[in-house]
Amino acid sequence: MTEERPVVLVVEDEPGYVEALTVGLAVEGFGVLGAGSLAEARALLGAIDPDLILLDVMLPDGSGLDLCRELRATSQIPVIVVSARSEEVDVVVGLELGASDYVTKPYRLRELVARIRSVLRRPPSEDARRLALGEITIDLEGRSVTRAGTPVPLSRREFDLLALLAEHQGQVVTRERCLDALWWGVELSDTRTLDTHVKRLRAKLEGDPATPRHLVTVRGVGFRLDP
Ligand code: CA
Repeated sequence: MTEERPVVLVVEDEPGYVEALTVGLAVEGFGVLGAGSLAEARALLGAIDPDLILLDVMLPDGSGLDLCRELRATSQIPVIVVSARSEEVDVVVGLELGASDYVTKPYRLRELVARIRSVLRRPPSEDARRLALGEITIDLEGRSVTRAGTPVPLSRREFDLLALLAEHQGQVVTRERCLDALWWGVELSDTRTLDTHVKRLRAKLEGDPATPRHLVTVRGVGFRLDP
C-alpha cells in the first residue's frame, strides 16, 4: 500500500508565495496544486477533492472569503485563510464563515506547515473553533459565549472584539488593530468607544471586572486576552 500524500490547494496570486509554497510544501510531504484566481480555484474544485485549501483573501477576481462562504455551504474541506496584516477584519469574517484557521502575511513556512498539520489532525466532527479561557468558552462558529456553562449575551461588536483577542490569546493586540477590525472603514472621532466595549466585556466575563484576569489592558499599546 502506498502512503497517501495529503493534497493542499494553494489559492494565491503572488508569484513569490506560489513558488515558495509549491516547493516548500512538497518538501514537507504534501501534494500541491495551485490556483491563481477564484475562477481557477472553482474550476479545480470541480475536478479534484483536496485535503485542505490555503486561501488568500486578496485575489485578482475577487475575495477569497466569497469562496470560503461557497465552500462551507457544500463541503467540509478545511480552509486556512491567508490575509495581509492590514486585513485583520478578514480574519474575523473568515473564521465566522467557517475557516479552520488563518495565517497573516508574511508568515514562515514552518509556522504554516504546523498549522496545516494541526488542522489536518482535527477529526472532522470536532468543533475546531471552540476556545476555552478558564471557565469561559467561546464558540467562534456559533458566535456564542458561556461562562461556567451559563450563556453570556454579547453584542455583535463585543463578540467580534472577544474573537479577535481570543485568536491572539496571550499576545497584545494594538488599539489600532482592534479599531480597524471592529470599525473598519468608519471614521471614529471617539476611540473611547473601544474602551466602552472592553469595559462591557469585562463586566460580562470577569469575576472581578475592576481587576481583570483575562481581558488585560497593556498600557499605551492595546489589550491582551490571557487564559
Ligand atoms: Ca493576493
